[in-house]
Amino acid sequence: MRDGILVINAGSSSIKFSLYLSNGDGKPVLSSKGQVEGINVAPHFIAQGADGTVLSEQRWPGDSNLHHEELLKHLIDWVEDHLEGAELRAAGHRVVHGGPKYSTPVLVDDEVLEELEGYVQLAPLHQPHNLAPIRALAKVHPGLLQVACFDTAFHTTNPKVATTFALPRQLTEEGVRRYGFHGLSYEFIARRLREIDPQAAAGKVVVCHLGSGASMCGIKDGQSVASTLGFTAVDGLPMGTRTGNLDPGVILYLLEQKGMNAKEIETLLYKRSGLLGVSGISNDMRVLLESSDPHAAEAVELFCYRICRELGSLAAAMGGLDALVFTAGIGEHSAPVREKVCAASAWLGVDVDPAANVRHAQLVSTPASKVPVYVIPTDEEMMIAKHTRNVVSKLRQAAE
Ligand code: ADP
Repeated sequence: MRDGILVINAGSSSIKFSLYLSNGDGKPVLSSKGQVEGINVAPHFIAQGADGTVLSEQRWPGDSNLHHEELLKHLIDWVEDHLEGAELRAAGHRVVHGGPKYSTPVLVDDEVLEELEGYVQLAPLHQPHNLAPIRALAKVHPGLLQVACFDTAFHTTNPKVATTFALPRQLTEEGVRRYGFHGLSYEFIARRLREIDPQAAAGKVVVCHLGSGASMCGIKDGQSVASTLGFTAVDGLPMGTRTGNLDPGVILYLLEQKGMNAKEIETLLYKRSGLLGVSGISNDMRVLLESSDPHAAEAVELFCYRICRELGSLAAAMGGLDALVFTAGIGEHSAPVREKVCAASAWLGVDVDPAANVRHAQLVSTPASKVPVYVIPTDEEMMIAKHTRNVVSKLRQAAE
């Protein structure tokens, strides 16, 4: 019988899902996807086919007080009705933090769940929301295998020098170090690049994951060696609403001179800064690129400037650059951002082909460019589906 794998990517107000059914070779193929959004406000469930056709939609009133469990039950019931004869084998979850321990996806049991709860303090804005559906699913569908796939796991190959803050040892030993995130996206891109340009993939590659959360990763022969996100998901590049790297002295200033408390500072750093904070207009790159307001242009300029600086830094960490890849919402769709970054990176041997770039071609550099530049759509959900299928296959083999 064909296998069904449900992929769950849960955030603070939404649960995104994708249902994969295995094909003749046992490979997962996207069958449907959707989300429950407006959790705790006015929940809205929508399911679509792989081509985007709306298959089902339901809204609940704002005062319905539906809990995670009830919404997940609705989702699971819908999924079970759309398995097309396959059997639901497992749910694969995106979990932001695997801490120092988890370098690969893991089958979740009570012990693992407890350990992952222990990492909540390392990712307070993401981890609790990632774990909530695991707990809820265990109640509404006991016996369903659940696999956690971590955003940090791909970076466990980073050398110690890349993960260490210059802090007293005791803090480092406690786990205050750089972890890096967006690892499922980077892993997907590293594998895809191996198919597109094996020679570059065997060399030194910088991948720019530019979505509403943004980061960059240095990948050497398929392995992460350094990245711009660190201890939490607020380091590195400016993002839609997050600051990116900031002199820690600014935080002391906010605490001591402005009298802000930790919660207020957290909101400032995560929700009111980045493209939104600098432009004062929007966190959406599309809106900023269309705006004639000079503050919007300043936000775009700062975003691109910071990417170029980090590109130099990652190339330095790897001792060179053999390929540059753009991915995620902005990376895949914004020709002006790619153009600005590439133009300012000519010193590294990057030569962008403006026509190919505007077309969002897969290769957007000229034949003369020493560094090929690719635009590769990412697919974190597919990566989770593959990992989950592998965990299920291993269990099946072990049981045989
Ligand atoms: P997330 O990080 O939430 O998964 P995405 O990778 O989908 O987000 O990226 C979302 C961001 O991509 C949006 O905030 C928007 O700024 C940007 N984006 C999407 N399409 C375009 C486009 N055509 N031009 C510029 N930016 C775009």
